[in-house]
Amino acid sequence: MTSQEIQAQYDAFKQLGLKLDMSRGKPAPEQLDLSSALLQQLDGFTAADGTDTRNYGIASGLPEARALFASLLDVPAGQVVVDGNASLALMHDAIVFCLLYGITGHAPWSRQQPVTFLCPVPGYDRHFSICESLGIKMISVPLSDDGPDMGLVEKLVAGDASIKGMWCVPKYSNPSGAIYSAEVVQRLAAMKTAAPDFLLLWDDAYRLHHLSEQKHTTINVLEACERAGNPDRAIVFASTSKITLAGAGLAALASSAANIAWWQRKTSVRTIGPDKINQLRHVRFLKDRANVEALMERHRQLLKPKFDAVLAQFDAYLGGIDGVTWTRPHGGYFIDLVTPPGCAKRTIALAKELGITLTSAGAAFPYGNDVEDRHIRIAPSFPSLDEISQAAKGIALALRVAIAG
Ligand code: PMP
Repeated sequence: MTSQEIQAQYDAFKQLGLKLDMSRGKPAPEQLDLSSALLQQLDGFTAADGTDTRNYGIASGLPEARALFASLLDVPAGQVVVDGNASLALMHDAIVFCLLYGITGHAPWSRQQPVTFLCPVPGYDRHFSICESLGIKMISVPLSDDGPDMGLVEKLVAGDASIKGMWCVPKYSNPSGAIYSAEVVQRLAAMKTAAPDFLLLWDDAYRLHHLSEQKHTTINVLEACERAGNPDRAIVFASTSKITLAGAGLAALASSAANIAWWQRKTSVRTIGPDKINQLRHVRFLKDRANVEALMERHRQLLKPKFDAVLAQFDAYLGGIDGVTWTRPHGGYFIDLVTPPGCAKRTIALAKELGITLTSAGAAFPYGNDVEDRHIRIAPSFPSLDEISQAAKGIALALRVAIAG
């Protein structure tokens, strides 16, 4: 297509008057409907051990909810806490506790300023917002398909005691879909860190969220850390936000016995117990791992055509264009569209004129700073299949117009 033809198609698209918000990776209503039965679930309030779930208590979560997450995360139930509905809140609290109190046996991070985190990029904007709001300095490290640049990570953590943590989304990462290889996980678990209280914030948000038929696995980070002699290095976070209800699911964390005891001590001050009614109805609805996997297959059936529709439009309109690439994720909620240098912001602005709201440029980088202005996060989950196909064409046209000039 000539640039005049592209411009003409872009102008014609504008006349459609589309209005689509694709800025966040939200489940679509029909995905939420898969868990409607959850809301009718409650058949008595009594948990397996006789606990009246309506009352206070059981701060670490109902035993059956901990057992369910233990089976999903492949960890012992005693090393799991189920608390609240948002894993992001647990990540936030873990970092705040480290800053204020220090993790077992170590001084508070706040007394050891500056505090620095390594941030594989492109990454999840809300991780970076937590760091920014808590005054934690961020250093970007490049993320490839099989994990972060480990040579660089090892060099940085060995030489700088201010590096206290690292964000990791080990499977189907947001937004590139990266899957950490066994070697990467082992190196993260074993690397020498100048900070003795260095933590891997292991955000396993997409552990069960496959898009392809191949169900990828990553090796167990808690076991890898234990084997490497760093048993307290990782805290694993997960939730059912994209399994059941994004606004009313369950969140959990898993770690070494020592870290779990630390978490229990710190959180006993802030709550007398979580919403155990929601925990009980989740356990009754989700039942066991096999049933959760069957539910995830139904999510996959709804999501896969949407991802395929985006990829088909990108293939048709962007295939072979110099400097333009995009990921073909095997799971998760996002596609990372990579533009020629200096084109992402302009593309997002041009898409906005077509009525398509995208995640703001630079969001996948600490401080919102995508130095080369190249990355656009595409979130295909929420719009209908027709809408997403149309929107992908609009985004492709916007990028072609941006490239043309
Ligand atoms: N981590 C990642 C990597 C995510 O993409 C998301 C949701 N977009 C979350 C965490 C949020 O999880 P939760 O709903 O459990 O807070």
